[in-house]
Amino acid sequence: MIDTTRAANLTATRARARMIEHLRKLGIRDEAVLDAMNRIPRHAFVEEALASRAYEDTALPLGFQQTISQPFVVARMMELLAAGGRALGKTLEIGTGCGYQAAVLSCMASDVYTMERIAKLLDKARANLRPLRLPNVRLKHGDGNLGLPEVAPFDSIILAAAAESVPVKLREQLAPGGRMVMPLGSTQQIILLIERTAAGTFKESRLDAVRFVPLLPGTE
Ligand code: SAH
Repeated sequence: MIDTTRAANLTATRARARMIEHLRKLGIRDEAVLDAMNRIPRHAFVEEALASRAYEDTALPLGFQQTISQPFVVARMMELLAAGGRALGKTLEIGTGCGYQAAVLSCMASDVYTMERIAKLLDKARANLRPLRLPNVRLKHGDGNLGLPEVAPFDSIILAAAAESVPVKLREQLAPGGRMVMPLGSTQQIILLIERTAAGTFKESRLDAVRFVPLLPGTE
């Protein structure tokens, strides 16, 4: 029994190391991002039947018609948040899903607040995260379009679901000097990077084409 578990862990460790090498080949350079993704066991966040595919560079279904994001896209968005060695600081994630990205963020941010609109999915994320004992991750059931005004401002905001326009409440909750990354669009989507200057103005950059599930209104 123990040997089977050890063998499985070793296989997962090797598969994860290959995933990191693949991310490097695709151009991810930020060692803090690569290190965080090397530390978090992605296989612990997907259904057991899919665990053997957990380190493939692909989105996987996680139930409720939602998907765990593709590792390269997670890495790319984190790299944009951390550009120039900037600390992520107090971070808000919209779209907890299975909790994988929240766990990766927790390795780089001082505090992670993650919001999910589907209560049952949030329960699943909580169960996935519990064994990792990450003291700086807080999960909230709610509509991410509204953000968390009681906790704002945030140094970093990241969306794991695509919006057709920038949610104004989230933009308002970005601290001066803060960065927000989000998929923007419906059938055609791109990554949008929003930087808030020290003076409080916003600068937007449109980056890579991506494919995310939609940001929906309300909760269930
Ligand atoms: N970061 C996740 C990926 C989740 S997929 C992971 O690592 O697994 C996107 C998630 O966004 C879905 O779970 C979906 O239910 C959620 N979502 C969509 N619209 C939302 C909203 N308005 N507020 C909060 N979560 C939302």
